[in-house]
Amino acid sequence: MKNKKALVTGGTRGIGFETARELRAAGVEVTVTGTRPRGTGPEGCRYLAVDFSREAATERFAQQVARMGLSILVNNAGVNTVGPLESYCPEEFERIQRINLRAPFLLCQAVVPGMRRHRFGRIVNVASILSVVSRAGRSAYSASKGALVGLTRTLAIEVARDNVLVNCISPGFVDTDLTRRILGSAGLKRMAAQVPMGRPASPKEIARCIRFLVSDENSYLTGQNIIVDGGFTCG
Ligand code: NAD
Repeated sequence: MKNKKALVTGGTRGIGFETARELRAAGVEVTVTGTRPRGTGPEGCRYLAVDFSREAATERFAQQVARMGLSILVNNAGVNTVGPLESYCPEEFERIQRINLRAPFLLCQAVVPGMRRHRFGRIVNVASILSVVSRAGRSAYSASKGALVGLTRTLAIEVARDNVLVNCISPGFVDTDLTRRILGSAGLKRMAAQVPMGRPASPKEIARCIRFLVSDENSYLTGQNIIVDGGFTCG
């Protein structure tokens, strides 16, 4: 994947970090984002700070991205807060949509004109199995990820003639630092027992699927929501 430029949002840890590392190892020039002024991604990647919960900052960032000449965009940054719909704070609902949905929408708008001109573009939006199933307390997150799948399908149709392929990847349980911190080792074991494969995914397993989707090897797969969950949603 030489001579390709990629942006991976939320590339400072977890799935985004591993994705940036995979792409860098494949020879791609990679920029990652995080929220801290002086953050870092994998070795060899450029770092930019942006907080997608802030509308004007996201719009300014999208303008910058439009000038980067990207052939690959991975909208990975995402957040989740849990609470029953009846008492869920509307402002928090909107914050989740700004980060998980509005930012990917604006970044897609920013990169598509250049991708069309070059007749090559690969976009992956990182959704979640909660785009197709849900659990109590996940209304804001499920809504954002379900909408991201809808956005992906529409854009895939709109840009297909110009060799711009747009897909979602929907991870199930992923063994990230954050998952470990939230669930603890007992929680992780309980969760693993619900997965037919008996374990969570590693961030690398998700990153490898993303690498395929954004590569030249993917020449016909577009508009899909690829579920990578060890069989969890099959039952
Ligand atoms: P993580 O929490 O480890 O990292 C999230 C990244 O997003 C970080 O780089 C962070 O800087 C960035 N980010 C957070 N808030 C932001 C904001 N306000 N503005 C801009 N960037 C912000 O995440 P992860 O677990 O690796 O998840 C990555 C993606 O995968 C997310 O979209 C998440 O919803 C999705 N996902 C994760 C899991 C899982 O089990 N970890 C499962 C399904 C889907």
